[in-house]
Amino acid sequence: MPMLTITNSQIVTPQGIIEEGTLTIADGRILSIEAGRSHNSPGIDVLDGKGLTALPGFLDLHIHGGGGSDTMDAFASDALKNILRTHANFGTTGLLLTTMTQSQELISHALAVATQAVKQGKEFCPEGAQALGIHLEGPYISPKRPGAQPAEYVRDYDEDEFGRWLEIVSGTMKRITIAPERPGGTELLAACRNAGIVVSLGHTDATSAEALDALAKGATSATHLYNAMPPLHHRTPGATAIFLTDNRAMVEIIADGHHVAPEMIDLALRSKGVEGVILITDAMAGAGSGDGQYDLGGNAVTVGDGKAVLADGTLAGSILTMVQALRNVRAWFPRLSWNDLALLTSGNAARHMGWENKGRIAPGADADIVLLDNNLNLQQVYIAGQRIR
Ligand SMILES: [Zn+2]
Repeated sequence: MPMLTITNSQIVTPQGIIEEGTLTIADGRILSIEAGRSHNSPGIDVLDGKGLTALPGFLDLHIHGGGGSDTMDAFASDALKNILRTHANFGTTGLLLTTMTQSQELISHALAVATQAVKQGKEFCPEGAQALGIHLEGPYISPKRPGAQPAEYVRDYDEDEFGRWLEIVSGTMKRITIAPERPGGTELLAACRNAGIVVSLGHTDATSAEALDALAKGATSATHLYNAMPPLHHRTPGATAIFLTDNRAMVEIIADGHHVAPEMIDLALRSKGVEGVILITDAMAGAGSGDGQYDLGGNAVTVGDGKAVLADGTLAGSILTMVQALRNVRAWFPRLSWNDLALLTSGNAARHMGWENKGRIAPGADADIVLLDNNLNLQQVYIAGQRIR
């Protein structure tokens, strides 16, 4: 049994911080966590983590692309591998491949390719983030709030179409973004519940009553809070006010400094508590790939000045990485502790999705670990106990 220890680093665990500890990893899992340094023993690889802090690997529940590749144009599994490798290099160790609103044919194809990647598990791309499932974003969303989703393909729930997709994904669709107020919303929520799919509300024009109704019917989160939903208004609060105040909903936030002002992220952190906020990237092909022209689910996108926009200036996904999201929130909110940062970048996502072996550094958990220096620069990344950076 190949063993590895990472010694001499600060370790952030759900029970608290171990200032100078040793992590022992075997067979892709964390075997033990101990205070103090490890001593060399034969047959064990020892890595020195001096001056570094170990956090659980980042989990990204909403990501469209990276490294020049997009989930929707992933006709070859090489494109998906490129996305997984690119984001692993920025500390993401597990993610949900997220589709875009498109024709039935294109979504079917993307789902088929992504399903193969998810089914192969860690073997699909050992040096990349693990594809933990599919997040279907659209097409059953509100035509009033498409954001950068191609509006011509936005449609109401179609039982036959969705049934076909459920067959294609054979259990790998783990999460969906829907507008619950649209015709068929109640049936769609029920179909998702039956299939064990986590329902997130987004690209929605729901009133507060409609949002409450969807939470009562089993929805458990809001997709990129504030973006593509009615803005807060003191006389017409709308879905956003419910997402902020109802404990049944967790909220995704794109913390790139372009999608949401830091003051509004602060409002979310204070309303939901740190445990209720999930940082996501909503990254598109330009993430980790530089400025230029890209495609996002059929729309032409220009990347520059740290953002991705359509021709009319609409934000079109982000070029954010999880480690940059972590640096941003730490800079805006110095009060956040290491444990808070771990919850925001992995722990909350794992709890939301029911992934018991992810999002925490604990004996028995998967050895998905990132090591950061004090400036929050990524120094080492481990996926299933393998160092990939
Ligand atoms: Zn979106």
